[in-house]
Amino acid sequence: MRQYPFGRQCADARPRANHTARPNTAALRIPHTRLIRRLQARGISDPHVLAALHSVPRHLFVQEALVSQAYEDVPLPIGCGQSISQPYIVALMSELLQVKPGMRVLEIGTGSGYQAAVLASMGCTVFTVERLKEFYRNTGALLRDLGFRSIYTHLRDGTLGLSEAAPFDRIMVTACGPEIPGPLIDQLDEDGILLAPVGLGARQHLKRLRKTRNGLATEEFDPVVFVDLIGEHGR
Ligand code: SAH
Repeated sequence: MRQYPFGRQCADARPRANHTARPNTAALRIPHTRLIRRLQARGISDPHVLAALHSVPRHLFVQEALVSQAYEDVPLPIGCGQSISQPYIVALMSELLQVKPGMRVLEIGTGSGYQAAVLASMGCTVFTVERLKEFYRNTGALLRDLGFRSIYTHLRDGTLGLSEAAPFDRIMVTACGPEIPGPLIDQLDEDGILLAPVGLGARQHLKRLRKTRNGLATEEFDPVVFVDLIGEHGR
């Protein structure tokens, strides 16, 4: 995979859907509703997660040329060698994170902004960190234009976390490294939950870590496929 240095603008960026013109929203309503039913059929049962995925217009977070696929349950390229996760994975991770309204959530890997928007729609204050300027800039502007006032975007190496806003009730990492970066565990509050894909190459699993008074409790979930977490505490 092509890798881009920290903070750089990348060459293969493509325009997002024009959210001010809101193209084809009526035509997308049926596929959107069908997607929510499909997520339920695949086992997503938390009504708050389903409501959030129903309320966030995924077609505004994908590239213009891919709008017609926005409500299919597939990952899509977002440029710079990165991708927006398939809706099932976004729903599963949102469910496994066990968020409640008012929680402070740190997301590593802003990308398209879709996962951050879903968590914000569930009532969380979201601090999202991205290492590529392209996403930091364009996604920040999109989220502001869409009226998400409880999402704070940061340009930096997310493997170092965001110490000035710590501790966090929840942390979600949306790129995969060989292990969970230590600074993220340090920045998790007691009783906090951290969810991350962990592994090397094609061997990745979702890991959920709970910080208790007696130490860390770890659970492993389904195999997943995420792009690389690139940073001092990643690869
Ligand atoms: N949550 C995103 C998923 C984007 S893909 C969404 O909903 O669209 C993963 C993102 O993680 C990419 O944008 C990539 O640039 C970013 N990333 C990879 N390593 C990172 C790091 N060390 N710090 C911050 N962001 C990182």
